[in-house]
Amino acid sequence: MSGFVHSEKPIRLERGEGVHLYGEDGTQYLDCGASYACTPLGHSHPSVTEAAREQLERLTFVQASYPVEARERANAALEAAAPEGLENVWLCNSGTEANEAALKFARSATGRSKIVATMQGFHGRTMGALATTWNSEYRDPYEPLIGDVEFVAYGDSEALADAVDDETAALILEPIQGEGGINRPPEGYLAAARERTERAGAALVLDEVQTGMGRTGKLWACGHDGVTPDVLTTAKGLANGLPAGTALCADWVADDHGSHNATFSGGPVVSAAIDATLSTLVEEDVPTHAAEVGDYLERELRAAVGDDVREIRGMGLMVGIEVKRGANRVLRDLALEHDILALPAGRSVVRLLPPLVMNREDADRIVEALVAVCGGDS
Ligand SMILES: *Cc1c(COP(=O)(O)O)cnc(C)c1O
Repeated sequence: MSGFVHSEKPIRLERGEGVHLYGEDGTQYLDCGASYACTPLGHSHPSVTEAAREQLERLTFVQASYPVEARERANAALEAAAPEGLENVWLCNSGTEANEAALKFARSATGRSKIVATMQGFHGRTMGALATTWNSEYRDPYEPLIGDVEFVAYGDSEALADAVDDETAALILEPIQGEGGINRPPEGYLAAARERTERAGAALVLDEVQTGMGRTGKLWACGHDGVTPDVLTTAKGLANGLPAGTALCADWVADDHGSHNATFSGGPVVSAAIDATLSTLVEEDVPTHAAEVGDYLERELRAAVGDDVREIRGMGLMVGIEVKRGANRVLRDLALEHDILALPAGRSVVRLLPPLVMNREDADRIVEALVAVCGGDS
């Protein structure tokens, strides 16, 4: 995880505003992690704060069997934002829960049990989602998990075609792998996944927990490829920092048993925050802004950084910088010497997931700091 923050130098944060976080000692940090992409609109965004506060004061919580306006608005906003055909909105509280729902719905709709997942993929840490997560450090201590999961090499369409068969309930994968190192698959991979699952009668589940909500320059990363899954899951940035997740489902895979549920799903306060986040994101066309600033950042990085950088990859404001001397050392120097907070993705990749409202000057500051830490010329 963010190793150095916990182990070597605790940075105590007190306040956040836009792209900045402020320490108790007054230090201003540029947030390039957005705490794992959870604040796409920046910290303490006024419209989300106001919507949540107003709802908190009016009606904090009531069980989901009573219709309330806030939930209806969140559902409507998600329906409008969903890829065409995925208008069945199932609300929950986190990414792993959204994926649990997707896997259960796929099993129930197909009557099959096998799940195909990808190497280096990450889908969460509850028992079901964990079984589809690749990293054995996360899995091994908790075995046995749910059975019947087959892993295939990410980006390999032929391996996919072999693994997905008429016993497969679901294929689950990320459009761009986040935790696994910001890995972009070759062109045509999502289309191949779509075609293969359709032919096999299996559900295609795209995990957009990290890539969703505008991160890659479109609201959903699958939009770049013109591919629509059967279930799209998202969470992290969905309520700009409040705990929320959703599974957007096609008709055939939308659960009709109604036996999968969670008490807090679609609670009024979180629903108000989802509505405010999504409305702001769409009305202000934040994804397009993220695409522009992301392109600029990647171009400037490529032009400037030196020998210590092996590769730069990503899309929009989801950027991975593979470094030779170990991600945690680079992250420590960025934080302690340049007041820039970022994330690792594995041992060798520095991951940038800033709030999407970041501007070019912020991007320049990142490039300058990375050049100072990794060599190169600014
Ligand atoms: C973070 C993440 C999850 C898990 O989300 P939680 O809210 O931590 O349960 C699942 N999939 C992807 C791609 C993620 O990045």
